[in-house]
Parts: sequence; C-alpha cells; structure tokens
Amino acid sequence: MTPLDGALWLISRGLPVFPADHPATARCTGIGRGHDPTECADRGKHPCVPFSRTYTSDEREAFRWFDGRHRNVAVAVGAARGPSGERLVVVDSDRPGALEAAAADLGEQHAPTMRVTTAKGHHDYYWAPADADLGNGLGALRGHLDGDVRAGRAYVIGPGSVHATGVLYRVAEDRPIAAAPGWLVAALQAAPRSTDRSGVTTVTAPPGRRLLALVRFVLESRQGERNARLYWAACRAFESLDDVGERSAAAAALTDAATAVGLPEGESRKTIDSAYRKAAR
Ligand SMILES: [Zn+2]
Repeated sequence: MTPLDGALWLISRGLPVFPADHPATARCTGIGRGHDPTECADRGKHPCVPFSRTYTSDEREAFRWFDGRHRNVAVAVGAARGPSGERLVVVDSDRPGALEAAAADLGEQHAPTMRVTTAKGHHDYYWAPADADLGNGLGALRGHLDGDVRAGRAYVIGPGSVHATGVLYRVAEDRPIAAAPGWLVAALQAAPRSTDRSGVTTVTAPPGRRLLALVRFVLESRQGERNARLYWAACRAFESLDDVGERSAAAAALTDAATAVGLPEGESRKTIDSAYRKAAR
C-alpha cells in the first residue's frame, strides 16, 4: 500500500486527508510556526499544509497530492464527521494490546473497530457523539492506557505512510469505524478542568504538585511528541495559574524539561509562548 492507496482507502471511509512529510525526501516538507525544515529531525509526521483548514475527501485531489511524489498521508481528525455528525476519536496505542489492557483495567470491553498498525502499536478509529467535548487528553485513561488519544484539532498518520524507522503503517482491521463505547467517551471526558466558568479553581492539587506532574509529562515525551506534549503541559499550567510570577516560574520549569528531552530551547520558548497566548485569550 502506498500513501496514495492509503489516501483513497481513507477517503472511501469518509475521512478527510492531507499530505504530511515522508522520510524519503531530502529534507522535511512539513510547515508550521517554529519549524525549521532544514533542521527537522522528527521526520515523516509533520503536516505539509495548514491541516485545520486544508484537507480533502476528493479522490482527484488525492491523486494531485500523493501520486508520484513522496508524501505521507494524514487524517484531519477534527474535520472528520460520521454519518450522523459524529466526531472522530483515534486511540493511539503505543504497543499492541494497550487499549484492550486499558479496557480490562477499567472492567470494560474493548470494542473492535477500524484499526491501523503503527510503528509501535495501533490506531483505533471511533465515532464519538457529536456533542462530546473531546480533545487530545487521556482523561481517566491516564495511568491505564499506554498511548495517546487524538480528537479535535489533531491528526494521525494514515495507512500506506512510512515511519521514520522505515516501518509501514498498515491496515490491520478493515472494518467500519465503530461507535466509541460509552465507557471510552466517559473516560475521555473525565479530564479535570482547572477552573469553572466563575474562575474558581476546582483542581484540588496545589500548583506545585500540579506543575511537577506537568514537568514529568514533558520529561516522558518521546521524539515526535515532545512539542505537542510541551504545548499541552504549558496550556494546563497557564490555565491553572493567574499569578504572573507563578506563570513565569512554570514557563522556566517547562523550558528546562523540554530542553532536557532534546527540544531546542528556541523552539521550546515559541511553543510555551503560544500556549501563553492561548491561555490569555
Ligand atoms: Zn519536520
């Protein structure tokens, strides 16, 4: 299966796709703020287009994007809609059986669905209810699932694509996308909110402990997810801190953690700045 085959396969299942970097090109073809293609060492994953608005479900467009050139295919998760307006959620297991194990941990049943094999594990695709407020957080799956969850403004690399290690993303289960089981939707929506609408902090952990957890979250990043995890951690930190001094202390701690796992300091600062701006809005 080539990326073009993968794109056509995904489109036939109603999923919008866009081109991403392919490790066979001399340099990264990805774009984005703070991304330097000449120095990119995280190959095969970066979007070639602004994917929150540039994607297609049109086969002819897919031929133009993928035929005769090295591009991986990615799924615009946030743009996908199920037959009744459902939202796409992709569970990204870091090892085979991780989602099954998480389900068993919670006393629940894994729901078989369309599944793609990745370099390490699987992507399981599900339709979540249209009104489910899902993001990239693990919610109550944290500590149970060895992996991540992609929903909302997110993307995943699709079948036919080549991982930086040379591993091919393959279709493992060619079946319709199943409805996300209730336990999964409930678990993903269980993410703690830092503040309610009145601005009253509802998180019980003191900021110090919370910041430590966020620093650890960044320190546990693998290559390829460092920037995303840093951004997530910085957003959570800034959401929960109103004090300017505490915010700058958090920014310094997160920058140190990011550089400790190999993210360039300039890139770390840009990511933290954009999280700061998001929190300010
Ligand atoms: Zn890149």
